[in-house]
Amino acid sequence: MGVTLRSNSNLVFQCAFHVVWCPKYRRRVIGGRMEERLKQLVREVGEVAVGTPLVAVVPVPRRETHRRAAPRETVGPLHVAEAGWVRFRWSRPLSGTVRSATVSRDGQHWYVSFLVDDGHATPGQHPAPNSAVGVDRGVAVAVACSDGTMRDRQFRTPGETRRHRVLQQKLARQARGSTNRKKTLVALRQVKRRERDRRHDFVSWTANRLATRHALVAVEDLRTRNMTRSAKGTIDAPGSKVKQKAGLNRSVLDKGWHKLQLALENVARYRGTRIVKVPAAYTSQRCSVCRRVDPESRESQARFRCTACGHAENADVNAAKNVLRGCRKIS
Ligand SMILES: [Zn+2]
Repeated sequence: MGVTLRSNSNLVFQCAFHVVWCPKYRRRVIGGRMEERLKQLVREVGEVAVGTPLVAVVPVPRRETHRRAAPRETVGPLHVAEAGWVRFRWSRPLSGTVRSATVSRDGQHWYVSFLVDDGHATPGQHPAPNSAVGVDRGVAVAVACSDGTMRDRQFRTPGETRRHRVLQQKLARQARGSTNRKKTLVALRQVKRRERDRRHDFVSWTANRLATRHALVAVEDLRTRNMTRSAKGTIDAPGSKVKQKAGLNRSVLDKGWHKLQLALENVARYRGTRIVKVPAAYTSQRCSVCRRVDPESRESQARFRCTACGHAENADVNAAKNVLRGCRKIS
């Protein structure tokens, strides 16, 4: 689930809950004993108009409604306007006033997310006021920091990569609109969802570490949208290295650079961290010791060796140090 933010005097964050049942799509979502119980629930509440849009929802405090649905601690009912009662699994406490709620679907899973005003205000000062870190987002290693730490994670296991390929081949053979094709699509979405969840987890975790430990986080001002634009060009002016560019685009998007930016800004609101965007030009070619720019210094994807002073370092860490220095120049 993506994190969306609204600007407000207080902090507003979104928390998502797993919907166990949705009246509109009940047959697809549930089955067995759960279905029976929910049907009974609907009978008690009244007839539910199938097809009612699930937009306005009013959450009911947990305790008062326990009797109605007899749920476990983690399952709470929710009254959907003009639709009836819906049960969902609390993935985290609400802790705040609900501003709005939306119901969304991801494959076979349904979610309700609440936009909550939690009453926190951004602290004026960070707990570690003089700490700063530069961050270089790369393709080989997702995140390299100026203090020498690197963070990366594989979002897909080799088995999942294989399965994804097999499913795609299968999909190509199946007739459009057929039931079996739909099944394959569901399976494909499951593989992708796992990958997306891992990326989301990695990005949130990294952003939390960075913003909690440092009062200032400097990142390159990467325009991911521009960078990942296709190199295809037009018929009159065809682009060059289209295939290579497409491959790079895939790995750029794969590492979740933009998501990291969003997650950093999100955590920063709670910690009082400053996020500074630094122009990305030459950060990978400049020596972090003698400041000399030379494309030759970059020996390989991983190694940096300055042609002027001989300073040798991991290329991404060297770039992260330049990002940090670039930000000191701005501020
Ligand atoms: Zn040098």
